[in-house]
Amino acid sequence: MPQRAYIKEIFKSIQGEAEYVGYEQIFVRFIGCNIKCNYCDTDINKSEHLKFYKNWDLNNYESVKNPVSPEELIKLIEKLDPENSVHSISLTGGEPLINIDFLKEFLPKFKRARDTKIFLETNGTLAEELSGIAEYVDIVSMDLKLASYLEDKKNLMNEHRLFLKQCVENNIATYVKVVIDNNFNQEELNNYLALVEPYRNNIKVYIQPMMQGDKMLVNSEKLRAAFELCKSKGLVPRIIPQIHKMLSLN
Ligand code: SF4
Repeated sequence: MPQRAYIKEIFKSIQGEAEYVGYEQIFVRFIGCNIKCNYCDTDINKSEHLKFYKNWDLNNYESVKNPVSPEELIKLIEKLDPENSVHSISLTGGEPLINIDFLKEFLPKFKRARDTKIFLETNGTLAEELSGIAEYVDIVSMDLKLASYLEDKKNLMNEHRLFLKQCVENNIATYVKVVIDNNFNQEELNNYLALVEPYRNNIKVYIQPMMQGDKMLVNSEKLRAAFELCKSKGLVPRIIPQIHKMLSLN
């Protein structure tokens, strides 16, 4: 039996966050997540159909029956980008790695069909799952999920440590993103940043202001404090807000 996955939507747009901001990607948004951030604004509930948007147009989509097979997903991607011109395919969510059995089947088939880069947007907690598909992943965008922003306040430092190790051991181009608002805790951020310190020559840290609609929830003083904290650890920080929200893009 081929694996199938529930997908929320597939669309072409620009990457709105961090290191690859502005590059054109195809986004494949998987349903479901293994954690619960209190700032999550993404609809990741199961649905009978996925929305397949045509060419940047948010009012123009086809409904496709869920769950989809690897072959169906490849066909949808090819339909959106027949000339193979996008920068990469963003596997996003939700948490894409909870669909590991599907990805193990999809990714080798996809890479045989196209040479487009695979860009994994992840909460950085499922290291073992990553190890099963690492050879097919070109770029990892990994979040550091501070416990104070999780509904259950769970400390995920160990999960993050193992995940970063997997990325580095598999030579995956990786960067780390951390979302903060005015209430971030300096000591907590300091502890999480320590996880990146051993890799400071290769892995950059992106501080992303939390947003509500197009309103930023962190002031310049707090942003500067987070920035200086990164620098004090020898890290190379950059502050980048979510550009797609400012541009009213998906
Ligand atoms: S990891 Fe991402 S998808 Fe999951 S709850 Fe947090 S913000 Fe939402």
